[in-house]
Amino acid sequence: MQQKISLKLLPSEAIDESAVKRLIANHTGKKTSSVSGYYILKQSIDARAKTIWVNLTVQAFIDEPFHHREIQTFSFKDVHKTEKRVVIIGAGPAGLFAALHLLEQGIKPIILERGKDVRSRRRDLAILNKEGIINAESNYCFGEGGAGTYSDGKLYTRSNKRGDIDRILNLFVQFGAEDTILYQSHPHIGTNKLPQIITAMRQQITDCGGEFLFEKKVVDFIVQDQKIISVKTADGNSFDADAFILATGHSARDIFELLHQKQILIEAKGFALGVRIEHPQQLIDSIQYHCPVRGTFLPPASYSLVKQVNERGVFSFCMCPGGIIAPAATAAGELVVNGWSPSKRNNPFANSGMVVQVELEDVIQNSPQGPVGKLKIKNDALAMMHFQQMVEQNCFNAGGGKFVAPAQRMVDFSNGITSSSLPACSYQPGLQSVHLKEVLPGFVYQALAKGFIEFGKKMSGYFTNDAVVVATESRTSSPVRIPRNNDTLTHPQLNNFYPCGEGAGYAGGIVSAAMDGERVAGQIAFCTT
Ligand SMILES: Cc1cc2nc3c(=O)[nH]c(=O)nc-3n(C[C@H](O)[C@H](O)[C@H](O)COP(=O)(O)OP(=O)(O)OC[C@H]3O[C@@H](n4cnc5c(N)ncnc54)[C@H](O)[C@@H]3O)c2cc1C
Repeated sequence: MQQKISLKLLPSEAIDESAVKRLIANHTGKKTSSVSGYYILKQSIDARAKTIWVNLTVQAFIDEPFHHREIQTFSFKDVHKTEKRVVIIGAGPAGLFAALHLLEQGIKPIILERGKDVRSRRRDLAILNKEGIINAESNYCFGEGGAGTYSDGKLYTRSNKRGDIDRILNLFVQFGAEDTILYQSHPHIGTNKLPQIITAMRQQITDCGGEFLFEKKVVDFIVQDQKIISVKTADGNSFDADAFILATGHSARDIFELLHQKQILIEAKGFALGVRIEHPQQLIDSIQYHCPVRGTFLPPASYSLVKQVNERGVFSFCMCPGGIIAPAATAAGELVVNGWSPSKRNNPFANSGMVVQVELEDVIQNSPQGPVGKLKIKNDALAMMHFQQMVEQNCFNAGGGKFVAPAQRMVDFSNGITSSSLPACSYQPGLQSVHLKEVLPGFVYQALAKGFIEFGKKMSGYFTNDAVVVATESRTSSPVRIPRNNDTLTHPQLNNFYPCGEGAGYAGGIVSAAMDGERVAGQIAFCTT
């Protein structure tokens, strides 16, 4: 007999197979020897009370042989001789999952990626971290795998209505991710494991006859009769196709400028702006697990905070337990921070974005305080992008160059005091003590300063000068939306052009970008077969 059983266990029991079997036996009134095995369907941690529990839902095998979980696998067609071709611009999650989905349906994908393959990309990241020199085509946002490659690889999303999350997770497993991502409530892969997975996806695409071309930056669209006929790359090549998927992410400012200049409709879009906070991981563990030291059976703790302040939502974003703060700019003279973690999340720091929603009215009407406010922002489709860029430039200058980031201790930030010293921080290019009120737009600073105090009330010990506030977290989502028709998913002016993923404004995160890639690929297959 097989039975789905929900169990509540101590963390030490949850990792002990014989303890779980014993509990299954108790639950079913059978002997432990009758339980031949089990696999986990769902796993979450309940740390609300003093005693921490692990909630497990398992598929238990009683008095019958145990079978491992069946992993869904997907097959891809050989397209070497296929005539139908789709050019995909950008090899982030949206572009990659679009390519795989096209292959499932026998359509040939040609991926044009401005950056390098994952391995070469790693060298550029080392130079950026150690020497403060950026390669504008190969960095934390640009290159094979896109912005999600050197990340924490968190795979949870709230956009479960937009696609099949399980399909995406199973595809990750098919290409090498551990099957734990299929049942954990907050699955993540880790920076050390993502590159191999991305490489395996590329191998699959090229083995089937798809093309995967690096250092191919798209610089022009050739338009005729409401269609794109070809795209040109910076090296002078041009690529034609039946359809074009634009999956260039939220940092491809040159693409937004190109679309605007060619009068291909785009719109300004609100995004969240703020800072990245870093605490000692041990402090977050002690707050979340109500004990001075985290037990060996528990993972590094995370948190999720939200509060309405000054009629604005202030919220934590992309929390990385045991993580590192990374320089995530894409051009010289701009400072952007983000976070990543290895699969074990075993660094001594816990970082998280802490951001405030910014809308077009904020940027145009209430001229932001500080040096950013001295610059006038034209009210057009690129307004939010220009605002974002100005804040980033401001932060770069305040840090003094080479991607040294302006920073302040948390309590000092809220009390308006420049920090006389800064705590140790994972951010490799280094920190410069700066009063961030002088650097951030006034309404963002004010909301964050109050928000931190409020968060200290929710999580006792969180509001502390042992935490450091690093500016700026600005690439939370795209500052531009590229419109598309709801039914055809094509751009309203160009009937073979499919804006896709985070850059077009249809996703926020790895899984939702991947789902959007699949959605667009599915639509192309539907229209062309
Ligand atoms: C450091 C970091 C950590 C993150 N951590 C997480 C996380 O843990 N979980 C999560 O869900 N999300 C995370 N994110 C966000 C996530 O990476 C993005 O939401 C996701 O990658 C968006 O996917 P996308 O395919 O739409 O765009 P992107 O991943 O941005 O990919 C766009 C691709 O297009 C290429 N491109 C751009 N312009 C051109 C051009 N002109 N020609 C050719 N190619 C071009 C780029 O080089 C890039 O490879 C993180 C981001 C960063 C930077």
